[in-house]
Amino acid sequence: MTRMLLTPGPVEVPHHVALEGATRMISHRSGQFSALYRELLADLCRLLEVEEPPVLFPGSGTGALDALCQNLLSPGDRVISLSCGAFGHRFREIALRRGVDVIPLDVPWGEGIGPDLVAQAIRANRDTRAVLITHNETSTGVLNPIELVTEVIPDDVLVLVDAVSSVGAVPCLPSKWRVDGLATSSQKGLMCPPGLGMVWLSPRGWERAAQVSCPTYSLDLKLYRLHRERAMETPYTPPVSLYFQLARALKDILSHPKETWWRDRRRFSRGLCAALEALGLSPLVKDPSLRSPGVTAIVGEEGLCKGIRKSLAQMGLQVASGQGDVKDRLVRIAHYTPMGWPELSMICGTVWKAMVEMGMRPEMDRVMEAALVEMEG
Ligand SMILES: *Cc1c(COP(=O)(O)O)cnc(C)c1O
Repeated sequence: MTRMLLTPGPVEVPHHVALEGATRMISHRSGQFSALYRELLADLCRLLEVEEPPVLFPGSGTGALDALCQNLLSPGDRVISLSCGAFGHRFREIALRRGVDVIPLDVPWGEGIGPDLVAQAIRANRDTRAVLITHNETSTGVLNPIELVTEVIPDDVLVLVDAVSSVGAVPCLPSKWRVDGLATSSQKGLMCPPGLGMVWLSPRGWERAAQVSCPTYSLDLKLYRLHRERAMETPYTPPVSLYFQLARALKDILSHPKETWWRDRRRFSRGLCAALEALGLSPLVKDPSLRSPGVTAIVGEEGLCKGIRKSLAQMGLQVASGQGDVKDRLVRIAHYTPMGWPELSMICGTVWKAMVEMGMRPEMDRVMEAALVEMEG
């Protein structure tokens, strides 16, 4: 029977990427590894459109956020923490543990963080050292306009971005957008199994890292950079199998013209949202321009959402609930990986059946029509 993992991380790993994980192990102190590492970093630079490659280390997305905070913030630094959901709160919590002075700024779940709000916060806190912001807020399905937000942030304030669920699925250009620290990981838009954390720093980010004493040993980014520059190696044992897999996934992504790659994600997301609305369901994010091309959240009564999740799971489609206070009132469907009409039909047909099982009578014809308009438009 069909089984599809539609949770917002980890995502379904394409078969050929999964197979790379079975490649014979190589020593991480070998020319073979250095060649793999060099190529992987070059492709990541192409994807992010940056010159200096990111640092890769064993870890999840949370580990990457931790690495940003440990390497770029010192206890007592004043930091504005912008949050529009569970991951914004997590980033804040990590900064708090680092002992920084956090100015929290929240917007309601389902809404985005815009430049006006940020400009106001900066004006009110002149001695701000850094701004923390989430690019794609996976708990709500909001894509924040980072490129507009950074325009209102003064040059001497570091911009640290949680891009865990955006890299690979949406354009994410830290250098162009004047970001100083970007954190991501392997298991979402990059279509790989979980286990690889990544951090990219701007020249200013590296300067700052040189001034901050990093309290952790294994997440000291400077050491990673040193070993890369000296020998194209990592200081400690890297998750080699994941390197093989990520190298393959990146080749896949980069084999498409970028604009087509991003456009197809957006079209799918619009099509899915329109179809779900036609089924009578409500997207959590009301403003279509803020809807994430990677994950769609439906909000509704607890009984409805639980029922849909449960029957989808019985029919082989695993989706996610919400997080935090809205845990039971959300259904989250991930589409970070490439999907098209067949997947859309399968998801919508299955949601329709789930609703029928719950005694509802949604019309199916209009559903596909609504999706078609958005997918082809
Ligand atoms: C998934 C996710 C994280 C956490 O990643 P883990 O790999 O679960 O540690 C952080 N931020 C965002 C936006 C995410 O989507």
